[in-house]
Amino acid sequence: MMAQYLAVKADYQHALLFYRMGDFYEMFFHDAEEAASALNLTLTKRGQLDGKDIPMCGVPVHAMDNYLARLIRQGYKVAICEQSEDPESFKKRGGKGPLPRAVVRLVTAGTLNEDGLLAPNQNNYLVAIGQAAGMMAIAWADMSTGLFQVQASMRDNLEAQIARLSPSEVAVSQTTNDEALELFLKASSITLSRTDDADFDSQDASEKLRRFYGDIAHDFSHLTRAMLSAAGGLLSYLEKTQISTMPRLSPLQLVHDDGLMEIDPATRRSLELTRTMTNERKGSLLAAIDMTQTASGGRLLAMRISSPVTNRAVIERRLDLAQSFLETEIMRDEIVQHLKPLGDSERCLARLSIGRGGPRDLVLLLKSFLIARDIALVLKRQLAGASTLGFSHDFISYLSALADAIAAPVSLIEPLQAALADEVPLLARDGGFIAKGYNAKLDELRGLRDESRRLIAGLQAQYSEKTGIQSLKINHNNVLGYHIDVRANHAEMMMNDGAFIHRQTTAQTVRFTTTELAELERDISSAGDKANALELSLFADLTKLITDAADVIAQSSQSLAEIDVAISTALCAIRYHYCRPQLRDDTSFTITAGRHPVVEQSLPADTSFMANDCQMSDEKRLWLLTGPNMAGKSTFLRQNALIAILAQAGLYVPADDAQIGIIDKCFSRVGASDDLARGQSTFMVEMVETATILNRATAKSLVILDEIGRGTSTYDGLAIAHACLEYLHDTNGARTLFATHYHELTALEDRLTHLYSCAMLTKEWQNDIIFLHQVGAGAANRSYGVHVAKLAGLPQLVLQRAQSILERLEETGHKGQKSAASTLDNLPLFTAQPPARPASTHPAIAKLQSLRPDDLSAREALDLLYDLTELVAKEDE
Ligand code: ATP
Repeated sequence: MMAQYLAVKADYQHALLFYRMGDFYEMFFHDAEEAASALNLTLTKRGQLDGKDIPMCGVPVHAMDNYLARLIRQGYKVAICEQSEDPESFKKRGGKGPLPRAVVRLVTAGTLNEDGLLAPNQNNYLVAIGQAAGMMAIAWADMSTGLFQVQASMRDNLEAQIARLSPSEVAVSQTTNDEALELFLKASSITLSRTDDADFDSQDASEKLRRFYGDIAHDFSHLTRAMLSAAGGLLSYLEKTQISTMPRLSPLQLVHDDGLMEIDPATRRSLELTRTMTNERKGSLLAAIDMTQTASGGRLLAMRISSPVTNRAVIERRLDLAQSFLETEIMRDEIVQHLKPLGDSERCLARLSIGRGGPRDLVLLLKSFLIARDIALVLKRQLAGASTLGFSHDFISYLSALADAIAAPVSLIEPLQAALADEVPLLARDGGFIAKGYNAKLDELRGLRDESRRLIAGLQAQYSEKTGIQSLKINHNNVLGYHIDVRANHAEMMMNDGAFIHRQTTAQTVRFTTTELAELERDISSAGDKANALELSLFADLTKLITDAADVIAQSSQSLAEIDVAISTALCAIRYHYCRPQLRDDTSFTITAGRHPVVEQSLPADTSFMANDCQMSDEKRLWLLTGPNMAGKSTFLRQNALIAILAQAGLYVPADDAQIGIIDKCFSRVGASDDLARGQSTFMVEMVETATILNRATAKSLVILDEIGRGTSTYDGLAIAHACLEYLHDTNGARTLFATHYHELTALEDRLTHLYSCAMLTKEWQNDIIFLHQVGAGAANRSYGVHVAKLAGLPQLVLQRAQSILERLEETGHKGQKSAASTLDNLPLFTAQPPARPASTHPAIAKLQSLRPDDLSAREALDLLYDLTELVAKEDE
């Protein structure tokens, strides 16, 4: 056995080998040590090799999913090794030693299909990076939904594309040597996998794709060699990991990169589109606006937010659909009610196509086809009266095509309805899921099986009467099968009767059989086995019926997801008063009463969000925003970027009105963070991100820059911010929102003609400052940092000291760094002496100080407690 284990393991050095032994998967040697510590399992030993104990640990087969999930999350790959021949055929061909075993699947983060290991409303992508003829491309697939796409790539936007997809795993060829990519993947917790260079050969790829789709005539000539390399590499990686069963993938789709808004990984992170900086869904833009009813709708919404588009027609179409639901309350409410119970048919389909599906998947699909039929009917009914609603002709044909796509699988309803019973088991092998009357042979076998059971009950009555033993029972167990049970005191009488054949004696009972009983048992078991086998073959037929229609079903699910997303944004518009954005081909950006979708929802009930306009025109395309800390600068900056992203995702936006000239790239540098994983300091990260913006932003881009230069000394920072501002103004020409604490920069307004100075308004009141969270023209003259420090609870002493330093600096700061520094030197270290500790004047404390607890009786102690409470209450008044 060990020899067999080692031979299998030799091919899977980079994975943990789950070696099947009966009801357990066992791990040995180093795998056992790793798994035991990763899963908190007991490490034991089994046998010896070269005189040394072999470490071993194991997990039960039925609980495998849970252990797999934990290992995959920790970055492991797991090779599942099963028996590859049944004992009978092995014996028949004279096999010796352990049963043959082989790896049936290599489980990796990007190739999971276990429902329990996948988040319902999130895609799980595997990405492959291809290269050929000096070009790059990426292909990605979600095995759990069947999506398969490819897109051209370039080295300098590769990370941005990967971040957009947020995959679990990226596969590259063995000899790919790209340290920056490796660091990026590591920092993003994405597994990097290497596979043979030959797998990425673009020459073989078309052939490989044709073979996979079983379509020898398919033409892939519209794809570049790099795209073929990526798609072929992805298929090869799937073949290597899925081994025995390839998943179903929809026809390969080409994604045109000029159709997407470019968002680099840093911008994506800082805007918290689908996850927050701390990698949580809650608090993200997605969580704030997700009102979808279904898992596939949720996945589509996440994809839309991650991939805003630049094609106006596509955006308008999505918005038209949303608007149609906004305006037709009855249709919307009716469809929402239909969508609510809709299961995840995409994942059912994926399970059935790889042979992991069960009868419940068929039932779920049947239910979703019924729902799809109802929704298509609602849409058609609406369409019949569409002219009155003022829909355009184009939109009516689009909606009608959508309704047709949704209804396409209805032809499967009848066969499934006829075949499936009302109650079905989880696993096909348990049987009983085919409805009575569907298959005459099955009914006959079941009848035979049930009839024989009735005959057994009859036999029991007959034997009981014949022997006069009231307690005689016919029971069943796995060892003896059907047998007669009598108590030990009746044994002798039974033994003397020639009809009963003795089988077993236990302490309490004696067991017999009869020829009749044995015959009946044979009939039951053969009818049962035959019925089960027949049901399994009917299950295979039904599965084939589904997988043959897979593309139609997938298309229907996608169309339902589209409806779900459109209704979700309509519901958002109603609940949070969002508006339909107007997309334009110029470079306008006019937001009226814009709000931050996440901050708005997180404010306490008694606080309302202060809406702000952002009206960038050509003369005012660079907004220089100053204002105190905590006044709402970052909120204002981000809300405008989020509004732009929502608009180009084809969703309603949190504003009263929004006119947006289509944005090609969106950049956001907000706040400072280290990138220790990549060995970069806070300031370095800030500069790398700023460099990306200055090098890539165009006149059609939107740039959000918050406190650039903050991570270095004041004067270096000011100089850098100044130069960046000039460059953005003169060279990039992008629509820019630039927040800063360097009030000196506002002087640039005189020289930079497109610059507009604005500030967060505040009010001073009784020595305090009130944030109005309102953007107004002009420049702020103070930062009120010390005030915010006070709000944050810094000790009084530190606050006093900071205030006096600030006053001195403000007097002399303009004379230059040196004089500012000498001013600091001149300040005595503690001008503000700590106030003497106030003497305790509180009567309750005085009373306590005079107390001798040992002298008190229980009663006195209680009285004292009353006195003290009273004293405190009085003092409070
Ligand atoms: P700093 O300069 O310290 O980074 P800031 O000026 O960028 O501060 P924000 O972080 O944008 O300030 O906002 C601080 C808090 O003020 C937010 O968390 C939010 O609670 C509140 N706030 C911001 N904008 C608004 C608004 N428009 N309406 C209501 N509350 C707001």
